[in-house]
Amino acid sequence: MTETSPLVRLTGVRKRYGGVRALQGASLTAAGGEVHGLLGPNGSGKSTLGKVLAGSVRPDAAEIEIDGAPVRIGSPRAAARLGIAAVYQQLSLIPELTVGENLVLGQEPGRAGFLSDRAARRRVGPVLERLGPALGDVRADQPVRELAPGQQQLVEIGKALLREPRILLLDEATASLHRDQVAVVFEIVRELRHAGASILFVSHRLDEITDLCDRATILRSGETVAETPIAGVQPDALVRLMVGDVQAVE
Ligand code: ADP
Ligand code: MG
Repeated sequence: MTETSPLVRLTGVRKRYGGVRALQGASLTAAGGEVHGLLGPNGSGKSTLGKVLAGSVRPDAAEIEIDGAPVRIGSPRAAARLGIAAVYQQLSLIPELTVGENLVLGQEPGRAGFLSDRAARRRVGPVLERLGPALGDVRADQPVRELAPGQQQLVEIGKALLREPRILLLDEATASLHRDQVAVVFEIVRELRHAGASILFVSHRLDEITDLCDRATILRSGETVAETPIAGVQPDALVRLMVGDVQAVE
């Protein structure tokens, strides 16, 4: 680990689904203390690239470095051990279990790199409290099925926060949230950034990208076509960048 190494770097990422070339040598580099947007039209490979990092998609080729050291991420567990957590629009909660049970789910007691069950339980209260302004009066002992869709999405985000990730992927994870709920999540993301985490952020709401992100990587047809600072970039320039005008923000 050196001071100049980015926290996370993916290069030469290739993935085919049958005949579909989802990623054709895509790359992404993000620093600690940075919110990094992942932009591109539908089908450009954003989710696939995120899932390669999160260990839920096995790439055909990829070089991944964390803190400058090569790593292999063969499974979501391997990703978790490296401090990587991911949240998608698609929920992974078990509706019949309580909020608290869902929050600690997937932690493996006693295994290196994972929270112990007890440590995880101790964090349930603080995580719910942190999300409280967005969650409303949701209780830890309440079955998840009783919650509104936005509240369930927040519990999903809480599951990732419970792990205190160094690298957090939010892939359309704010899609079902109201504006005021998004604001609470963004505040938490900014705290994580301040603590040195790297947050990878995907959203189809461009105002969210320009509000939150420091830099962004733009994908098109499975390839990285640009990487750009985001501060001060207008949403319409982002749109031009996404659809083909690489000079849009240069
Ligand atoms: P994005 O998140 O930018 O919309 P995706 O990574 O989801 O892009 O998709 C990239 C390409 O791979 C698209 O053409 C999509 O249809 C295809 N694809 C994604 N997941 C699968 C899958 N599980 N099986 C087959 N094709 C897939
Ligand atoms: Mg996607």
